Amino acid sequence: MVDLNGQYKGIKETVNNSIQEVLETSAYINGPYVKDFQSALESYLEVKHVIPCANGTDALQIAMMGLGLKQGDEVITADFTFAATVEVIALLKLTPVLVDVEPDTFNIDPKAIEKAITPKTKAIVPVHLFGQAANMDAILEIAEKYNLYVIEDNAQGIGATYTFKNGEKKKTGNLGHIASTSFFPSKNLGCYGDGGAIFTNNDDLAHTIRGIVNHGMYKRYHHDVVGVNSRLDSIQAAVLLAKLPYLDTYNKARRDAAKKYNNAFAGIENIITPVIHKTCSEICDACNCHVFHQYTLKVKGINRDALVQHLNTKGIPCGVYYPIPLHSQKAYVDDRYDEANFPVTNQLVKEVISLPMHTELDDEQIDFITQTVIDFCNS
Ligand SMILES: *Cc1c(COP(=O)(O)O)cnc(C)c1O
Repeated sequence: MVDLNGQYKGIKETVNNSIQEVLETSAYINGPYVKDFQSALESYLEVKHVIPCANGTDALQIAMMGLGLKQGDEVITADFTFAATVEVIALLKLTPVLVDVEPDTFNIDPKAIEKAITPKTKAIVPVHLFGQAANMDAILEIAEKYNLYVIEDNAQGIGATYTFKNGEKKKTGNLGHIASTSFFPSKNLGCYGDGGAIFTNNDDLAHTIRGIVNHGMYKRYHHDVVGVNSRLDSIQAAVLLAKLPYLDTYNKARRDAAKKYNNAFAGIENIITPVIHKTCSEICDACNCHVFHQYTLKVKGINRDALVQHLNTKGIPCGVYYPIPLHSQKAYVDDRYDEANFPVTNQLVKEVISLPMHTELDDEQIDFITQTVIDFCNS
């Protein structure tokens, strides 16, 4: 699904030198590379504060802790996403409220959000799923109307741009009150282990969070709030600082691969290629509206699981993200949920399939993959 080794070979010397430097200075924790990466990412995203932490799941949890959400507060998020999003809501004893998504973009449905709001609702967590921003115009409008926080889960969307209705453009992760991301190796900006970060433009919130990630300390050995230990290692920061200048090129390589997939599948009636919403009807570098963390198709009239099996027998990796709606997962089932409210997710889990997507895909690989899928459809 990914080719981390191929990508590493292209930047081997830079990355090796950076890691070597950390080893020479032994500044393993909170060394200068962490600060340098933080500043570089702040400039890239044009966001005021980046607070690095240990992984993307921590980043979400810490964002919710920083906002001071309390037991019983309701947090609305998408039914069709990776479990980390709902997991931290539940861990903090907040009440997760899962809602349905849009059938074309796979992102949280603003109409479903508004329907789920109660007096206890405190926050919305849109996930920029597979690398495309959720409908932030509508989400921010709802948040303002009901006085809710917007926490963007940008683990899959780093480097993507969102174009507002009024034409204004901003990077995802800089659209709501606070955002989280992950530097897990396979993410669009991945390190060589675990890593994550929180973004915000709010000075007070940033200050609160810098304490939370460090055991609730604002002054050495004075613990003002209950915190956690969540740090980005210096070695990972060094890797990320070396890779950040390549992020746009990497995301373009993903878009180029997606375009080739789309072209190959044009006119195949069993295959529905990813939909780009809003400003562009096609994949375009100028608006950079999709960074294809995953290239996810929907299939119609063929058996998805049989296609998965067929690809596996041909040695083509593929994935089903995600095979089970979160509201049906054992850990998150709840009597409050009504199946009738999840028609889209319940359908998507049967239809989606993600093909290999990374920065090193060549034409020959794409031809082989697409031809194998098409042959299956025609068989
Ligand atoms: C990867 C991911 C996370 C979690 O990131 P980790 O660094 O693995 O903890 C959270 N949300 C989404 C949508 C993700 O894809």
